[in-house]
Amino acid sequence: MPELHTVVCVKVVPKSEEIRVDTETMLLVREDVRSEINSPDMNALEMAIDLKNRHGGRVDILSMGPPSFEPFLRVGLAMGADHIYLLSDRELGGADTLATTYTLAQGIRRMGGADMIFCGEESADGATGQVPAGLAEWLDIGQLTLLTQVDVDMELGTSTGRREVKGGYEILEVPLPCVVSVKTACNEPRFMDFQRKPWAFESEGTLTLWNASDLDADPDYIGLTGSPTNVSRLAEAPTRQRRRQFLDGSPEEIAGQLAAILTKAL
Ligand SMILES: Cc1cc2nc3c(=O)[nH]c(=O)nc-3n(C[C@H](O)[C@H](O)[C@H](O)COP(=O)(O)OP(=O)(O)OC[C@H]3O[C@@H](n4cnc5c(N)ncnc54)[C@H](O)[C@@H]3O)c2cc1C
Repeated sequence: MPELHTVVCVKVVPKSEEIRVDTETMLLVREDVRSEINSPDMNALEMAIDLKNRHGGRVDILSMGPPSFEPFLRVGLAMGADHIYLLSDRELGGADTLATTYTLAQGIRRMGGADMIFCGEESADGATGQVPAGLAEWLDIGQLTLLTQVDVDMELGTSTGRREVKGGYEILEVPLPCVVSVKTACNEPRFMDFQRKPWAFESEGTLTLWNASDLDADPDYIGLTGSPTNVSRLAEAPTRQRRRQFLDGSPEEIAGQLAAILTKAL
């Protein structure tokens, strides 16, 4: 029986409190900001590693972004993934979801395909949630979306998954290969395995870096050139001011004032 080969698409995003968009270029500011693995992608990684632990096989991480993503992606190796593929080239920059999904699909083709391709529900920065469906379209394969549980039958060549719906759940089945998007917070991502950590962070053979020409990518389909969508305007949503009141006095006086305020509010 063939070994299960899964790919987890992982995006590295600025920490949510540091997300800024350059108002000139309308692109995300990635310099001088602290980053992290997109939190929903940790749920996707957890689901894929759990599947590997139950059925065997391998888990590869696939990411498109600058070389500075590397140390963050290595966290995935320490959790249980086997290899990282980082698609990195200035030509790939400024991609919308159409160009991003084309590029990721080219990366998967270059890897020789995969049985299952996992994605998070959405990214913390762009947050379109379009990448899983776009990938399935470019690769012309089925998709199971917003799953909370997944299983695979390599003999039958199918994957089944559970999706929560209002008042119940659905069990879905799709032939392999397929794309799976994982419901945010549906599982508890494992910590790094400290025995894997030295290998994960120090071994050079665990990362493959590909540029646009390695991917045999059509230049009209990648980066800004291949992106019909761009962010044309941004507006800041005003934050709501919280009502607050400071109380002065001794603890007894403050307790009295607080009791009076609460009694009035009832
Ligand atoms: C403020 C803002 C608004 C935007 N609006 C749009 C828009 O309306 N339309 C549009 O086409 N583009 C938009 N973009 C660009 C969009 O963010 C990029 O195309 C991005 O590369 C992919 O889309 P996403 O972040 O929305 O991913 P999502 O579809 O939200 O991400 C879902 C999953 O796909 C995977 N994934 C996403 N990106 C990568 C990656 N680079 N590498 C590996 N895996 C990945 C992850 O598993 C992730 O959890 C916007 C960007 C910004 C900053």
